[in-house]
Amino acid sequence: MTTLSQNEIWFVTGSQHLYGSETLELVKAHSKEIAQYLDNAKQVPVQVKFKALVTTPEEITEVCLAANNTKNCIGLVLWMHTFSPAKMWINGLKVLHKPFLHLHTQYNAEIPWESIDMDFMNLNQSAHGDREFGFICSRLRKNRKVVVGHWKSPKVLEKINIWARVASAHLDAQTGKVARIGDNMREVAVTEGDKVEAQIKFGYSINGYGVGDLVEHINNATEQQIKQLIEQYETEYELTPTLKAGGEQRNSLVEAAKIEIGLRSFLEEGKFTAFTDTFENLHGMAQLPGIAAQRLMADGYGFAGEGDWKTAALVRAMKVMANGLEGGNSFMEDYTYHFSKNGDRVLGSHMLEICPSICSGTVNCEVHPLGIGGKEDPVRLVFNADAGKALNASIVDMGGRMRMLVNEVVGEEITEELPKLPVARVLWNALPNLEVAAQAWILAGGAHHTCYSQNLSAEYLQDYAEMVDIEMVTIDEQTDLGQYKNTLRHNDKVY
Ligand code: MN
Repeated sequence: MTTLSQNEIWFVTGSQHLYGSETLELVKAHSKEIAQYLDNAKQVPVQVKFKALVTTPEEITEVCLAANNTKNCIGLVLWMHTFSPAKMWINGLKVLHKPFLHLHTQYNAEIPWESIDMDFMNLNQSAHGDREFGFICSRLRKNRKVVVGHWKSPKVLEKINIWARVASAHLDAQTGKVARIGDNMREVAVTEGDKVEAQIKFGYSINGYGVGDLVEHINNATEQQIKQLIEQYETEYELTPTLKAGGEQRNSLVEAAKIEIGLRSFLEEGKFTAFTDTFENLHGMAQLPGIAAQRLMADGYGFAGEGDWKTAALVRAMKVMANGLEGGNSFMEDYTYHFSKNGDRVLGSHMLEICPSICSGTVNCEVHPLGIGGKEDPVRLVFNADAGKALNASIVDMGGRMRMLVNEVVGEEITEELPKLPVARVLWNALPNLEVAAQAWILAGGAHHTCYSQNLSAEYLQDYAEMVDIEMVTIDEQTDLGQYKNTLRHNDKVY
């Protein structure tokens, strides 16, 4: 998993020569101070480097080209402390390939009513300098995040934090590789999509591999590796009695460990960041990967079942965004409903592969039959996810465009025992309520597969959708179905 602190944002301030060198020196000093403050801020997980005070079209183009060519530069924060005539920015913004955040701030916080004079006004004039800059960005149809407020305000820092995490996921996707082991589940529609379009929009590549490529790695697992991994299972999870040493299904645990070792080695060798599998293509494998997929997800790999590469890549992106935050992100499926007079709920789960990052309590390691696929019983981790605010995110290919769909939900504590349910599960209340949320989700063509996030807000996904220039639809407490249907109609025209 990439460490966010390796990434850097370039802080660039625009101005012009009109003000004389004395003012420009001050502009530079203020910019450095702000960049340093952001760099030191705990809320901002990446480095912030003051790069340049730009006053000519040539300087602007130069810094934009340099940002393009700097591998660990996730994007730019641009600010016009003074007026910066924006025609100077046209060429630079045209060649810039990195995302940017327009920080609409002002060095000085409050107006010094007693001492304010024209010198003060001319120095602290981002109120109109940033408007001139905003015009040219809009005229060039540039997607960007505009953050408004004083640079020391916690709200501003939080918005920069969100954008920096999203830009880090965006950078990660530029070299991202999704391995598809086997094809999509036969006849399934929503997991299909245009892989070429996805690479153009998101950056990651998607390629298929035969199960035999993976089986070779599984067969290469050594006795020593298997022993060590099983010891790890024994320390981290509550093993069901039949899987313990001497238990009658101990061999299933050995097979599961071999699959994890092989899968990990396959992914490392190919430098993959996400993967998919399908229960229909398992030739040469003893079990469908359960615990293996779950643990690899917990380590930061993107994953989705049944060949769903779009969701696998989304899980990876959201894991990069959430790096270091409390709570987790997991592949998820809307599984079954609880229609009740006390309120309708969704029980989310999958056949096996829910990421243990969404559980802070006890995780059991169990083995049960799968029912489909015709292989041996797979070992899996079983647990209840933590309660709390969360969301489901999905990307679907609408034909000619990708659509991001987000539904804010509230995860709830599961108080029943569920003694016969052999999979990890999450119970949630979909906002504003299941009746509206499910209608809205279905009308937008949202998938049954999602990434369930406990630590990312809709703003992260909004920033991401804008960064990669795709449609975004949100379903939340405020959703009004009439307005929502119009949004879908309007978006169809726009895209
Ligand atoms: Mn599924």
